[in-house]
Amino acid sequence: MQWRGRRTSRNIEDRRSSGGRGIAVGGGSVGILAIVVVGYFLGVDLTPLLDGQQSQQGGGEVTAADQEAAEFVSVTLADTEDVWTTVFQEQLGATYAPATLVLYKGVTQSPCGGASGATGPFYCPGDQKVYLDTAFFVTMEQELGARGDFASAYVVAHEIGHHVQDELGILSRANEVRGQSSTADSNAISVRIELQADCLSGIWARHAEAQFGSIEPGDLEEAVNAARQIGDDTLQRNAGRVPSPHTFTHGTSEQRSRWFQTGYDSGQINSCDTFGTDRL
Ligand SMILES: [Zn+2]
Repeated sequence: MQWRGRRTSRNIEDRRSSGGRGIAVGGGSVGILAIVVVGYFLGVDLTPLLDGQQSQQGGGEVTAADQEAAEFVSVTLADTEDVWTTVFQEQLGATYAPATLVLYKGVTQSPCGGASGATGPFYCPGDQKVYLDTAFFVTMEQELGARGDFASAYVVAHEIGHHVQDELGILSRANEVRGQSSTADSNAISVRIELQADCLSGIWARHAEAQFGSIEPGDLEEAVNAARQIGDDTLQRNAGRVPSPHTFTHGTSEQRSRWFQTGYDSGQINSCDTFGTDRL
């Protein structure tokens, strides 16, 4: 992806200089209440990989590599703002209100609960913010086999996809139903939420290509590969387990890569109706 020297987003909240001690933000009893109400991390669930290991603590100095990753994230975030402003206008006749992206290092707090390296990036509807530790990009490349800058862009676009769902009222409705469902049913709804976010990230890639010409040869393959590598079946298999479909919360590798591709091929929000289809 061509990103150097391009516009960065104003909607970055950088908590990295606090060394992971930004606990005051969203903490306290209000935060605890929000955990019960909101309840769901909409992130990449790394727990299958981290079970039985010490969760990584991270923190420490902000390195030159961290700075470069942060700039990449900021350009990608700016791209999502431009694309979703256009798509909301053209396809919905609506105005897109952008999300804030929190950069943290090690640990931080959100109204959805505490965040750490084990959490992976996630979107919290409670404050409409994406939480991202750029160390996750290293985890993706070294431990998850998801290489390339566009794999990272896909992750940012996926999390912003959750914000788009929130803006459209989809997230609150789905989470309301999840709150009244059995664990298995709640997981099944989660899969539909996640596959839709993958589809929305595909829409973003399509429009980013058209609007900025920033997509390079191999980029799409990097995103599709990333979607495959973080499929529930692949994550569980790589953790030495037999994949257990009723525990899936994000969808299989095949589903995730296919829904990304669906969004990319159509560029249309209405092609991402994962709640209204029999064929996930
Ligand atoms: Zn997600």
